[in-house]
Amino acid sequence: MEAKWYEDGLKMIEELTSNAEQIQDDLLKDILSRNAGTEYLRRFLHGQPDKQLFKKNVPIVSYEDLKPYIDRIANGETSNILLAEPITGFFMSSGTSGGQPKLMPVTAEVDQLWAIFRTLYESPVMKYFGDINQSGKRMEFMFARPEIETPSGLKATSVTTSIFKESGFRATLPKLYTSPVETIFCPETQQSLYCQLLFGLIQRGEVVMVGSFFAATVLRAIKFLENHWQEMCSDIKTGQISHRITDTGCRNAASLIMKPNPALADLIEDICNSKSWEGIIKKVWPKAKYVGCICTGVMGQYTTELEFYSGGLPLVSALYASSEALCGINLEPVCKPSDVSYTFLPNMSYFEFLPVKNDGNESIEMRSNNEVTETVDLVNVKIGHCYELLVTTSRGLYRCKIGDVLRVTGFHNNVPQFQFVERQNVAISVDQEKTSEADLFKAVTEAKALLDPIGFILTEYTSYADISSAPGHYVLFWELKEKEDNHYTEPDPKIIVECCLRMEESLHYTYKIYRKKNIIAALEIRVVKQGTFEALMDYYVSKGASFSQYKRPSCIKSKEALKILDSRVIGKFFSPKPPL
Ligand code: AMP
Repeated sequence: MEAKWYEDGLKMIEELTSNAEQIQDDLLKDILSRNAGTEYLRRFLHGQPDKQLFKKNVPIVSYEDLKPYIDRIANGETSNILLAEPITGFFMSSGTSGGQPKLMPVTAEVDQLWAIFRTLYESPVMKYFGDINQSGKRMEFMFARPEIETPSGLKATSVTTSIFKESGFRATLPKLYTSPVETIFCPETQQSLYCQLLFGLIQRGEVVMVGSFFAATVLRAIKFLENHWQEMCSDIKTGQISHRITDTGCRNAASLIMKPNPALADLIEDICNSKSWEGIIKKVWPKAKYVGCICTGVMGQYTTELEFYSGGLPLVSALYASSEALCGINLEPVCKPSDVSYTFLPNMSYFEFLPVKNDGNESIEMRSNNEVTETVDLVNVKIGHCYELLVTTSRGLYRCKIGDVLRVTGFHNNVPQFQFVERQNVAISVDQEKTSEADLFKAVTEAKALLDPIGFILTEYTSYADISSAPGHYVLFWELKEKEDNHYTEPDPKIIVECCLRMEESLHYTYKIYRKKNIIAALEIRVVKQGTFEALMDYYVSKGASFSQYKRPSCIKSKEALKILDSRVIGKFFSPKPPL
């Protein structure tokens, strides 16, 4: 019998993970021999593609260090100042460096690499659920972003958009997915989401998987359905799409697929009308086998709610990747999100690991800041240890930190498996935007200037991503002190409201766009009683944090810590309008 495609994928995973050391060495040799003569590497390697020299001389960098080179290329200089392969464009990350999107050079090999990566991350999933490509369609929520043209004429786009544009993917779209291409490329997110849900409802009998790249998007879609199912049912009944959809592409796609179906509309109405939406995904899409989306890292905050809606369907986080590099896959797709580990693929990039001090449950913000510069190779990391990931690629990144901290949980053959611990320097995030400690600090600094004229100072602050209602919002806990002791007269509420707005105005571009599009709700400041932050510190110290090295977390993740803060709130204030 002919081997199923995913069996070939599984075989390939075994081969790759058994020969990891050799594959990594060969990959590095290949990258160095192709790129040793570039302006960037020449200074360190003097033209010699040698691993020892590479480790000794090439500096460990962050994106910011390579940015001047990337900017020169984006502004029209030849790309071989950084990489030998001609570049075809840029990837724009979702904004991990201080909240601002980063540009990553892209070469022709990327599409091919993604295709291999997709085969490899989907193989374990198919092994478990069977070849879903043969049994039905995926209802995956997909949103392309507009491309930006750099001064060099090269286009910058997100990784996901580039996947949606790829011809191989587009060819499979009608057979494998419920969303027509027009809905994915619709520039209006709300209209796109409406249509993708509507088409998913119309094809409900065929849907074998519900998902998106990240958990936040799936949750957002379900909440959107909660608010719009009546309108969608009315569309299904009449076979006419709602007038709210003005996008021509979406309307055209609808005209091809929609015809009056009162029986289906009644059925969906019955399901959605129930008092509780617990298990709604399974009820609406009864053939769905799993919910596919990344539920680890910052997305872990959404799993409880997603489990509520999914009705026992497994939540499958299949891959770990970034705009910089494709990294790992999940070999046990049905394990609990909190237990997911990613097995690294040695053929995707050259990986190095910087040891990071992480004592058990302490947050990374609390670790000592001793700089470590000795890296560990992929096959030599140690179980239980935490590392910051560095990647070297043929696309111009050499020993570049991607800003993620990972913990080794085990090995598959010779390859380590990593649990995602957290992002370095990201303080708060409610959707896909990422706000760093530095962003938050800047915004707080701008806002607290308003307190000065009324005689108050801000003594302590921290933040919390409140996602208990949709859309989520930023909460800032502020402890205030009067400059002169007047036995704590209350600050003027109007000023604190203004502080909320000032903070929003001072946050980064992505935040403001999301806020304007109502993907993020109004920022809130909760003023807490004096002494609250002392109580918070006492709590962390009681949990084992070092008193002398204690650093207040800039974002609260622990429920107990949140309780301490919330129980001392004396006033809540919201930003009155989206920032300009
Ligand atoms: P981007 O910068 O937009 O390319 O996003 C990539 C970042 O998303 C990674 O560096 C991680 O911080 C995060 N990420 C991607 N995949 C996962 C995953 N499976 N689990 C946790 N975080 C992830």
